[in-house]
Amino acid sequence: MTLEELLRSVTERSVQYLVGLQKGNVFPSSEAIDALAKLDEPLPDGPGDIETVIGLLDNIGSPATVLTAGGRYFGFVTGGSLPAALAANWLAGAWDQNAGLKVMSPIASVIEKVVLGWLLDVLSLPAEVGGGFVSGATMANFTALAAARHAILKKQGWDVEAKGLFGAPSVMVIVGDEVHVSLLKALSLLGFGRERVIRVPVDGQGRMRADALPELTEPAIVCIQAGNVNTGAFDPANEICAVAQRAGAWVHVDGAFGLWAAAAPVYAQLTSGFEKADSWATDAHKWLNVPYDSGIIFCRNPEHLCGAMSTTAAYLTTGEQREPHHYVPEMSRRARGIEIWAALRSLGRSGLSDLIERTCNHARRFASSLTEAGYQVLNDVVINQVLVAFGDAETTRRVIAGVQADGTCWCGSTEWQGHTAMRISVSSWATTDADVERSLEAILRIAKKETG
Ligand SMILES: *Cc1c(COP(=O)(O)O)cnc(C)c1O
Repeated sequence: MTLEELLRSVTERSVQYLVGLQKGNVFPSSEAIDALAKLDEPLPDGPGDIETVIGLLDNIGSPATVLTAGGRYFGFVTGGSLPAALAANWLAGAWDQNAGLKVMSPIASVIEKVVLGWLLDVLSLPAEVGGGFVSGATMANFTALAAARHAILKKQGWDVEAKGLFGAPSVMVIVGDEVHVSLLKALSLLGFGRERVIRVPVDGQGRMRADALPELTEPAIVCIQAGNVNTGAFDPANEICAVAQRAGAWVHVDGAFGLWAAAAPVYAQLTSGFEKADSWATDAHKWLNVPYDSGIIFCRNPEHLCGAMSTTAAYLTTGEQREPHHYVPEMSRRARGIEIWAALRSLGRSGLSDLIERTCNHARRFASSLTEAGYQVLNDVVINQVLVAFGDAETTRRVIAGVQADGTCWCGSTEWQGHTAMRISVSSWATTDADVERSLEAILRIAKKETG
């Protein structure tokens, strides 16, 4: 098989897979998962036929995928792949560019610069902000907090990149009690520790209570959220930023998906005040719907980001212009800006706003139908997240298990302020009204059976 024939055949296989998304159960069958055992074979002694290799992957792998690319997956916060983003991903795969250095890929470095400008525009962030492309919000949180650590300690006369944290001036780190685990992980990787942080009490929606902020008596980093992973709620950024800025503290925003509300005029108000922060982390693989993996770190003063991230070596040419690897932890990496560019270039401002509004409308449709049927929606559905309880914890768990086994759609579970709840996150461009109705029919049918 020639390379050309191989790529044409894999295109056909991919098309068949994507066409099948409409029909299939969202979660693979246990037979399909059991069949994965066939992949557990000894490493072949020599080269094999490529068609056989790809055939094996498709025939065994495709049935064992979760249909997160389709319109009826509502677990975690999961986007699909916009057509333009998927197509760009294929082309970029053929290009195989290393986006770490400008000299290794003019296209990757130029497109990243263009895309950064567009992102600041749609996310309503200040024009002076710089940024970089990473694997997701976890790495974006990590990178942003490294910039924060750099800046805060530099102000104290301490070069943390050179000297490390042993003996460094103390830094207060403040998070809301509903902080995302990835942010705690980032703090632990940076030597701040998961447990020495100050956790600020939250309200019934999971928003950090500005009135409960401790006095900022030391150099401080305050981490706030745009979009709680369960409720979708936004911390009161205006109030917190005002307090933090009076104390000279750094404000970091975990806006993995919520930050995108800024791109839809109807929801933009929710993100008011977040533009006053010093750094932001967001995902492109969630609400923007580009293929995994893709996240973005933004930093108000790019010098702090570079201060934490840049490397120099004689063989790494540097010039006057932006060197992509000076803004992120990685050196070699794939050119993530390409899919983001394709997504934004194909949607335009109104297409992006429509994507945000449409998914939020779907979430509200879920919430109103479930409420009407007598079930308890636990959160204010401000964006795309719905938490629903079907009675006591045991009953709710049975409904969730029933929904997952039924396969029409997939929703996960959570514990929300003492309640067990099913999470519905509508984050995919592919979700249609028909998908929502079909999923609601299944959820209500199963809930009715379980609550008898
Ligand atoms: C998803 C999420 C993260 C982690 O993002 P990854 O892309 O999985 O690394 C962090 N914070 C919030 C609020 C999230 O929703």
